[in-house]
Amino acid sequence: MTKYHLNLAHLYGNLLNTYSDVGNIIALRYYAKQMDADITVQVISIGQEFDPAKFDLALFGGGQDYEQFVVSKDLPNKKAGIKQFIDDQKPLLAICGGYQLLGQYYIGANGEKIPGLNILPHYTLSQDHNRFIGNITIKNEQTGDEYHGFENHNGMTFLGDGERPLGKVISGHGNNGQDKTEGAIYKEVYCSYFHGPILTRNGEIAKHLLLAALHKKYPNEDFSKQEQLVIKPTF
Ligand code: GLN
Repeated sequence: MTKYHLNLAHLYGNLLNTYSDVGNIIALRYYAKQMDADITVQVISIGQEFDPAKFDLALFGGGQDYEQFVVSKDLPNKKAGIKQFIDDQKPLLAICGGYQLLGQYYIGANGEKIPGLNILPHYTLSQDHNRFIGNITIKNEQTGDEYHGFENHNGMTFLGDGERPLGKVISGHGNNGQDKTEGAIYKEVYCSYFHGPILTRNGEIAKHLLLAALHKKYPNEDFSKQEQLVIKPTF
């Protein structure tokens, strides 16, 4: 039995789950255990209510354009709940397609405009007959941490006011191949194009998300021991 318990909402987890996104849940559980916490996961998909009060952290994964289009039809029903969750400073990890759908809109590879939640201010354009594919390294300019991952996307994302990049591109393409930014941070929302999955190779991000969730859920507890957790690779 662990002392702490966290509830994770896997938003549209049955539709948006490309390139082993589920590995992020496995990595979160791996680190949570070292923090004396366990995690219950619930997929919240099409037609299901998302009640922000029931969850301590959330994952919004990546997908193909078709699945993103299907999901976009359901987003208006969840917008108020997801916005509340974000405004409450609860941690949300959004990867690739999920990252794109938190923003204003996404232009798919066939030119179709897919409306997003419009909670975060970024927008995503498409590029002609090209995808950004390959290994990527970025540096979080606030913490100095380097993150390593793999990207595979057509979309070119441009950040808006109030969000800052997850990191500066050292090698690879990042958000749009132009401005050297990768991903976005907004409140406790962490967005990235890293698949692979991001948390197995970059445990510091998992640690940050878990601590944010624990502090939020147990405001009177002392988590200094958890804060000192030394991150080791999960493999
Ligand atoms: N379909 C989107 C794109 O190609 C997202 C891809 C993904 O989630 N890997 O940009």
